[in-house]
Amino acid sequence: VISFENKVALVTGAASGLGLATAKAFAEAGAAVALVDWNEREVQTAAKELADKGHRTLAIQCDVSDDAQVEAMVKKTVAEFGRLDAAYNNAGIQNMLAETADVPRDDYDRVMAINLRGVWSSMKFELQVMRKQGSGVIVNCSSLGGLVGGNQRGTYHAAKHGVIGFTKSAALEYATCGIRVNAVCPGLIRTPMSDKMEAEGQGEALKIMRETFVPMQREGMPEEIANTVLFLCSDLASYITGQSISVDGGYVMR
Ligand code: NAD
Repeated sequence: VISFENKVALVTGAASGLGLATAKAFAEAGAAVALVDWNEREVQTAAKELADKGHRTLAIQCDVSDDAQVEAMVKKTVAEFGRLDAAYNNAGIQNMLAETADVPRDDYDRVMAINLRGVWSSMKFELQVMRKQGSGVIVNCSSLGGLVGGNQRGTYHAAKHGVIGFTKSAALEYATCGIRVNAVCPGLIRTPMSDKMEAEGQGEALKIMRETFVPMQREGMPEEIANTVLFLCSDLASYITGQSISVDGGYVMR
């Protein structure tokens, strides 16, 4: 059993899907958890549900595309819990479906600001704390889309490739400082984000992808990402840094 007793974890995008499952997993493993999301009502509900079960939680409203808010989210976490041991930078959105020749500039800016710059600034302020502590672990949320191209999803895929670049660079910079940095690359996972893609008429495409391209022939569950993030943040992964771990039922092998 992985234990995070006496440890402090921070999760962005913690009100839903993969972030919520990971925040729950950290709490159940004994960590004090800062749940961060721009959806204030949902993040407060999620934090309260965990607190009602006896876990130490803190709900923080923060838009990860706003540097000042990101800096404040890290400060609030340390002010409340005293340190920061593990961070899962997970908040993200999908781009609107459009081929590269038709992508509006504002959609590009929105996706990059959240999915790439949001991860960069989260890492920046988390690393300032971890560097001082001389310890810490970061997991960034990339995607299968961070490893392969994507039809009408160019901006999303570019941002997720960028997350892997920042992950490797930070892992190199802090390898001798007691800090590890890795990325997780989820494949097709059942969350409100994938439900939204189905609602946009991509249900049939997702079904074909699952049945044709996923060797395990099923979608993944949020808990399967959470388990991987906890493993990467634990001492069981003490010699793993700068890696991008696919959790996709074998999809990336195709
Ligand atoms: P989701 O939509 O269920 O949850 C995302 C959460 O992030 C939401 O609570 C949302 O409010 C929050 N969020 C979005 N933008 C934010 C911002 N600017 N600031 C703060 N919070 C913000 O989605 P999910 O499926 O759980 O996705 C989580 C991460 O996993 C994303 O980075 C996504 O790209 C990645 N991912 C998901 C899948 C999948 O199949 N679901 C596959 C690969 C990668």
